[in-house]
Amino acid sequence: MVKTIVVLGGGAAGVKVIRGLVAKLDPTIHRLILITSRPEYVNLISAIRLLVDPTTPHSNVFFPYTRLFGDFPGHIVQGTATSIEETKSEVGKIASRGWSDSFEALRELGEEERPMAGCGGIIALSTGAKVEYDVIILATGSAWEGMIAFPNDPQGYIKHVDTWRKRIRDAQDILIVGGGPVGIETAGEIKDVYPSKGVTILQGDRLLLNDVYPDKFRRDIQRRLERRGVEIILNDAVSGNPSTEKPIKTREGKELTCDLLITARGSGANTQYLKFLKPNVLTDRGYIKIMSTLEILYHPGMFALGDIVDWPEVKQLAKISMGHADVVVNNVVQYLNGEKMTHSYQGSRDFMAISNGRNGGSSFVGLWWGFVFGNRFTRWIKSRTLLVEQVRETLGLPE
Ligand SMILES: Cc1cc2nc3c(=O)[nH]c(=O)nc-3n(C[C@H](O)[C@H](O)[C@H](O)COP(=O)(O)OP(=O)(O)OC[C@H]3O[C@@H](n4cnc5c(N)ncnc54)[C@H](O)[C@@H]3O)c2cc1C
Repeated sequence: MVKTIVVLGGGAAGVKVIRGLVAKLDPTIHRLILITSRPEYVNLISAIRLLVDPTTPHSNVFFPYTRLFGDFPGHIVQGTATSIEETKSEVGKIASRGWSDSFEALRELGEEERPMAGCGGIIALSTGAKVEYDVIILATGSAWEGMIAFPNDPQGYIKHVDTWRKRIRDAQDILIVGGGPVGIETAGEIKDVYPSKGVTILQGDRLLLNDVYPDKFRRDIQRRLERRGVEIILNDAVSGNPSTEKPIKTREGKELTCDLLITARGSGANTQYLKFLKPNVLTDRGYIKIMSTLEILYHPGMFALGDIVDWPEVKQLAKISMGHADVVVNNVVQYLNGEKMTHSYQGSRDFMAISNGRNGGSSFVGLWWGFVFGNRFTRWIKSRTLLVEQVRETLGLPE
């Protein structure tokens, strides 16, 4: 019988899994579908430069899916998932065995006690369409705010880019709220194109980034930004998205004036479509509880990877390409064959490259005691091209 495998979300994780699966699935017995809300791939890594620099082409960020499946007869369905309903019998079996709703209880069960195959269900989309699946792989990523929150339709995102370019061009004093990678890279890109504009980063923590990284890396980034005239205010914050018409009052009582405020705060997960799935799979913050096989707890045949999973690590593309994707591809194939899943995610080494415009930046490599590299390395590994060639290669597009 033909089994339908659905990948939900066509971002970094979804496309990596599709590229892995097309090399392993058999088109005579497997149907492969990508459901995703946008008609094109969006390379977030190069998005800030596009939003700031009017000379950056849209083709550095938006890429067609035309070669994604290679010669495999895959299908793309455009739509936003609104809910998932499990309809096949094994799910009932879990409930009727009376297993407790506790996360730990199922984690402790032996492999032979877990249903291994045959589950499936239906995904409902915002378009009204319904898609049936036997195996589903969730890769719907983070929910971004402000500049990075691209609309889903091409007309909408072209307008979005124009609007932000104009806002940045017309502003003289820009306040960036959030000193994580997005806020830092936004400051660097603005200084590249508009060196004389005032740029301030407001960061809630005692240093830029968060405590996952050593202070020497965090201070190195700060030093490099300050050298370019970026002002950095630490241990302070503003909430919401206040108007810039009058001075903005910070948590610590400062009054800041600016004519453009860019929010670059932590993002949540795009998992609202799982809100009604029983037993619950979401943490309080909306991340998906998974086992080390990257299968979703209590839901055989459902896998998740990328930014949406509840795993104690920084949300990064690097984690997907250096770990999540291979685990999911190999386990899905074993699952489809009715075999025991033997691939397990154990976390991966921290590596972070943060650009400071196209010629600089700072990188951290989490080997031994941790190494910090500066402009030359970061420019070579990331800042100059923002991985555009690698994205084309991943999507199967010609150079
Ligand atoms: C500005 C910026 C710079 C970055 N730089 C780096 C970097 O240098 N190195 C690095 O390792 N990481 C970097 N990251 C992080 C990296 O981009 C993410 O970790 C990565 O994109 C996560 O991949 P994902 O597939 O989980 O999510 P995404 O790439 O966000 O893809 C999610 C996909 O799912 C779709 N989708 C969402 N909801 C639904 C739904 N309900 N139904 C259907 N489809 C849906 C979305 O449209 C999207 O196509 C950066 C992020 C940003 C924002």
